[in-house]
Amino acid sequence: MDNQNFLLKYRECFGCSTELVNDSYGCFDCNIFFHKKCVELPIKISHPYHRKHQLILESDFCFCNLCQVSHSGLFYRCSICNLDFHSECLPPSVIKDKKHHEHPFTLLLRPNSFTCDACDTQGDNVSYICSTCNIQVHKDCISLPRFIRLTLHRHPLSRNFFLSIHFHDSRTWDCRICYKKINMEHGSYCCSRPNCEFVIHVKCAISWENKFWYDITELENPDEFKELDESGNLIFRVLRETKVGDNVVAAEIIHSSHDQHSLTFNDEINDNKHCNGCMMPISSSFYYCSCCDFFLHKACAELPRRTLLWFPQSSFRLLTDGIFKCWLCDYDCSGFSYKTANGLVVCLRCATTPHNFTYQAKEPHYLFYDAENVSNCSACGRRRDRKGSYICKDCNFVLNSGCVTLPKTARHNFDEHPLKLVYEDNNDYPLHHWCDICEKKRDSKFWFYHCKVCDNAMHPKCVLGEYPFIKLGSKYKYKGHPHPLSFIQKIDYHPLCEKCREPCQDLSLECEEHGCNFVGHWKCLRVFSEVYSYHH
Ligand SMILES: [Zn+2]
Ligand SMILES: [Zn+2]
Ligand SMILES: [Zn+2]
Ligand SMILES: [Zn+2]
Ligand SMILES: [Zn+2]
Ligand SMILES: [Zn+2]
Ligand SMILES: [Zn+2]
Ligand SMILES: [Zn+2]
Repeated sequence: MDNQNFLLKYRECFGCSTELVNDSYGCFDCNIFFHKKCVELPIKISHPYHRKHQLILESDFCFCNLCQVSHSGLFYRCSICNLDFHSECLPPSVIKDKKHHEHPFTLLLRPNSFTCDACDTQGDNVSYICSTCNIQVHKDCISLPRFIRLTLHRHPLSRNFFLSIHFHDSRTWDCRICYKKINMEHGSYCCSRPNCEFVIHVKCAISWENKFWYDITELENPDEFKELDESGNLIFRVLRETKVGDNVVAAEIIHSSHDQHSLTFNDEINDNKHCNGCMMPISSSFYYCSCCDFFLHKACAELPRRTLLWFPQSSFRLLTDGIFKCWLCDYDCSGFSYKTANGLVVCLRCATTPHNFTYQAKEPHYLFYDAENVSNCSACGRRRDRKGSYICKDCNFVLNSGCVTLPKTARHNFDEHPLKLVYEDNNDYPLHHWCDICEKKRDSKFWFYHCKVCDNAMHPKCVLGEYPFIKLGSKYKYKGHPHPLSFIQKIDYHPLCEKCREPCQDLSLECEEHGCNFVGHWKCLRVFSEVYSYHH
């Protein structure tokens, strides 16, 4: 009575207590089922694990001397030594897995531990060897994928039992996930493209968390690997070109994020203004609209429509309007974002911060993103309620995703001069350790904004405000109001919020419809979901 798949669903094999598959036998009257492989188990075996005596197949309840767990079902018993081995736990003496290794692996039982040539971690007693390649591995490491792809690197990686030739110079190699040394004598995954020096530990490739973070998947055939086409940005017309040094740049463009007017190129720094894409001060060449308060960094205007980021999941699409909460830095933002098909959305500041780079604080730190990190941030001293931070490869400097993108310069009405982000307060005078805006204490260990001319020192939060990345004038569709609203911050007159009836002093929304006086705090009208509002 085999192959009645629909009836076999949710039933277990009596022999090994695992799910039944196509090849099985059973009796529906007695409600007892077996895998084909379990029915065909030999009655008597000699197994290298217990050489002294023959083992006899029995069916009952046993305490398995291999995995130290009780099972019911089929097991092999040595009645002389009073030892039981669950049939599934006895390692097969030969494993042939052509898909993952050319040669068969043979079981080697030794009472001592070994270092696995595939994953460079310790194993005990049970190992498998390939005598052709002279390697010794864990049972599970036999079936490691030969090729993988991950979001962190644009090329497929191949598994090597020894680091391949082009990594064999006198340098040492760090794993590009955990930034710890790679042991040259053992296995790793590395990129085989010439001059591409990308290598990761096998243990980092197979760790469950990393699989999620870097979307690590087996690749059947590396020749079929296609790189995402990132050509195409949102500049849909170049109206005029100009020469800057030796380069020709587009001097006037139509950008689809602001298609009602053309945008003009400029390369004077203007940190009074903020980019409508990334919300950061204009600190490099940019495009601007001569009719509206609209600015775009040249780099932000040229961002690809679709891209791969190093985050979980691969393809991100560029969106140019909407109010959202960034998945990585947790800030409420207006401006451009990258979004996946599943709705994961990140701001441009986070999207353009690489997985690893040198951050210039007081000293340079080589940072990389550690998805498991829970340390306190060196900039603000806080610990976020979720894992993941940028950490320095060489010291205990840590930056959370909110602080890693803090603007290096900022402006505030309190001080007429540009303010500089400062990483350490060397001024011992205790009165200096106060914030000149809120007049509360400042911890001298943490970062602050400083004006050299006035010697004003201020908390980053006091300078930037609660919502530094929402541009005033941005539009928002609030479900509880029929008209479009726009972000405002009233200076001298504070109307009452429709929700809480308190004056609207901080970031608020105001109705654009003539004659409708609807107004409310952003914190009161803000809808609590990951993505608040998209206009398309
Ligand atoms: Zn067992
Ligand atoms: Zn291993
Ligand atoms: Zn690693
Ligand atoms: Zn920008
Ligand atoms: Zn962000
Ligand atoms: Zn911080
Ligand atoms: Zn303050
Ligand atoms: Zn309110």
